[in-house]
Amino acid sequence: MAQITLDNLAHSYLANPSDEGDYALKELNHTWRDGEAYALLGPSGCGKSTLLNIISGLLIPSHGRVLFGDTDVTRLPTAERNIAQVFQFPVVYDTMTVRENLAFPLKNRGMDGAEIARRVGRVAKMIDVEAVLDRKARGLTADAKQKISLGRGMVREDVNALLFDEPLTVIDPHMKWELRTQLKKLHADFGHTMIYVTHDQTEALTFADKVVVMFDGRVVQIGTPEELFQTPEHTFVGYFIGSPGMNVLPARIEGRTAHLDAGSVPLGAGYGALSGKVEIGVRPEFVSLSSTEGLPVEIVRVEDVGRHKIIRAKLSGKALNIIADEGTEIGADMTRVTFDPDHVNVYADDWRVAPSGAHATGEAA
Ligand code: ADP
Ligand code: MG
Repeated sequence: MAQITLDNLAHSYLANPSDEGDYALKELNHTWRDGEAYALLGPSGCGKSTLLNIISGLLIPSHGRVLFGDTDVTRLPTAERNIAQVFQFPVVYDTMTVRENLAFPLKNRGMDGAEIARRVGRVAKMIDVEAVLDRKARGLTADAKQKISLGRGMVREDVNALLFDEPLTVIDPHMKWELRTQLKKLHADFGHTMIYVTHDQTEALTFADKVVVMFDGRVVQIGTPEELFQTPEHTFVGYFIGSPGMNVLPARIEGRTAHLDAGSVPLGAGYGALSGKVEIGVRPEFVSLSSTEGLPVEIVRVEDVGRHKIIRAKLSGKALNIIADEGTEIGADMTRVTFDPDHVNVYADDWRVAPSGAHATGEAA
């Protein structure tokens, strides 16, 4: 197992990149700690596979270095990196049985038969293929084949890292949950460094201790699910994580007050002078309807989604989402909204601004 360091890493698929837009992966410095389980989350095309393939050696970066521990592996082929990688679509040998497929990475390394049998048995149980171990892979369904690909990635115990690139895409929803649970168990049992790529926030938040959020070739935030929820460092994180995502509203900030088109709202802390595009972000969970106080709002629709209600509203003509407890009665007199000041974040040019200590004085007031 190894700590993985990305040092001034960047990648362009073009021979002569000229500006930032030519880079599928913009400059990145990051250390993946040994033994930690990470999710790499972002929309399609943001550079997740590019980054994973650079770590595994399928791709040589146009800039920077990859280190496993203290060793520079930037130019080492995949086979010499001692990693296991599982892809979105199955990679299995049709003419081999399920057992032979699972045993393949071990046999390749000359492991003895009894040890191979033990490991194959362990993994077959985890991915629930014990009943078909002696069947040829050829006749199996796509999702059974993908389970075997997953199993092949799980069978080695000595790898530097386990890399998964959207491995559950072709798996049916119920089975997804089960397999994710097994991957977590594998992590708990063996403590591999794991990087799990997905575009699905639920998958990312339930799998990993740390979520690395990517947007447009850049890592915009690395944090625990709690941190991504409470303090999105970029408006994209606020919008992408959460259901619905964070409300982002144009604002002018003056000390502890945000002035919006619809009126003013108090902030939990003070801010210095800001320039560029200034906005506030507030998650629907921290917006409340009121009949007596706050900004005037127009309710468009109420959606009952079981555990809570999502209220689709308009604040000075722009969409505003509100989450209320399922028991909340939404009366016709509820024509105003308030924001919980401690959960309003401030953004300049899409990046979160830290409150300035100097202004944060009215705490006791
Ligand atoms: P993701 O895995 O997040 O969907 P990718 O890493 O596959 O994103 O792609 C990032 C960007 O690089 C996209 O704009 C994609 O079109 C581009 N890209 C990916 N692979 C290649 C390639 N082999 N040649 C040229 N461009 C590529
Ligand atoms: Mg991809």
